[in-house]
Amino acid sequence: DPSICAPLPVLGADVTVPLVTGGDVTYAALDYAASAPALQRVWDDVAAYAPYYGSVHRGAGYLSQLSTDLFESSRATVAEFLGCREGDQVVFTRSTTDSLNLLASVLPADCRVFVFETEHHASLLPWRDARVTYLDAPRTPAQAVATLERALADREPYGPALVCVTGASNVTGELWPVRELAAAAHAHGARIVLDAAQLAPHHPVDIAGSDVDWVAFSGHKLYAPFGSGVLAGRADWLRDAEPYLAGGGASRTVARRADGGVDVQWHTTEARHEAGSPNVIGVHAIASACKALTEAGFDSLVARERTLVDRVLAGLADVPEVRVLSLFGDGAPRVGVISFVVEGWNSSHFAAALSAEYGIGVRDGLFCAHPLVRTLLGGEPQEPGECGAPEAEPGERSLNAIRVSFGAGTPDEHIDRFLGAVR
Ligand code: PMP
Repeated sequence: DPSICAPLPVLGADVTVPLVTGGDVTYAALDYAASAPALQRVWDDVAAYAPYYGSVHRGAGYLSQLSTDLFESSRATVAEFLGCREGDQVVFTRSTTDSLNLLASVLPADCRVFVFETEHHASLLPWRDARVTYLDAPRTPAQAVATLERALADREPYGPALVCVTGASNVTGELWPVRELAAAAHAHGARIVLDAAQLAPHHPVDIAGSDVDWVAFSGHKLYAPFGSGVLAGRADWLRDAEPYLAGGGASRTVARRADGGVDVQWHTTEARHEAGSPNVIGVHAIASACKALTEAGFDSLVARERTLVDRVLAGLADVPEVRVLSLFGDGAPRVGVISFVVEGWNSSHFAAALSAEYGIGVRDGLFCAHPLVRTLLGGEPQEPGECGAPEAEPGERSLNAIRVSFGAGTPDEHIDRFLGAVR
């Protein structure tokens, strides 16, 4: 029922773009997995607050106090949205990448990290200073759990360990068995962080219920593109480590010592890792998006999205040249993120044609998940620049892919236009 979208309209629904074939068409934004459009509600909330903007945690002035209240109440909103436990911290960051790098900076000494090679680079790469075990790509969710259990059981010596796993793949959209992986991690004395960048916009995240230790996500994929992100979860590692950034706001007292140096006492609250003037607008926007999604209800969002996923998969299955990429096989549950290749087409040219001839915005490339795309395509991807891939000659075998992704506010017409264009 498309009217399920009605409570959550997004910005940009009537933006028109020029076509190479002449004329204009309304833009079909089908690249939510990269950045989702802002919810109208988020934009309205930000606009309503903007005139009252003030510094946080510093000033006695009315607007400063109001901004501080807004900032701190946003923490409570996000904690509720994520189903945090008593005592969990909600640290505001810039993005998922920032959140995972923050967590990497607070690992206890001798911590081992376990990460599947199929992860987004934001989950794969921040652990440079730790001893990292990269786990082979599993081909079923059960295999993922078994692989992790084996790796954790084999570790010597039995010290602190962290597992990092993505809730929903940014390439295949497939859901990972988070609860089972968390149980496996804890059974072997490890902690687990959930990269919820693609999960949180599509599915309820429940820290307490799924028993993960931390969750990271980005505002700009959760319909709040204002430069903020979240790391939420256990307070102990965060409290015991040096601040991620040193500076004002993170320090409680700073005093010169007799020997000429300085003594610093750092906060033990979230402020410890939020040095500098925080992004109040971005934080307000994230909290607004959390409220909007909660009020709309994930049941209806998930149901609506499932019908769109089914329609896209059925439509693509009708085109013999299309191959949809999947790690876990046909029928694996997934969010509204679907990648595919088209035989005889270079993916970048295909995506460019969707844009130029149909006004459809999708993503092409390797999606910052090179090892995963290599596994899915069964070949050596073209050497990429950044997350994309270079131009190939028309007709050359494609070793990158096309990704279509959608969510709240996606009208049926965008899906119809996309499937018509592919056909
Ligand atoms: N993890 C996943 C699964 C993602 O899809 C992304 C963004 N593509 C990230 C992490 C990184 O998010 P950000 O760029 O907002 O830091």
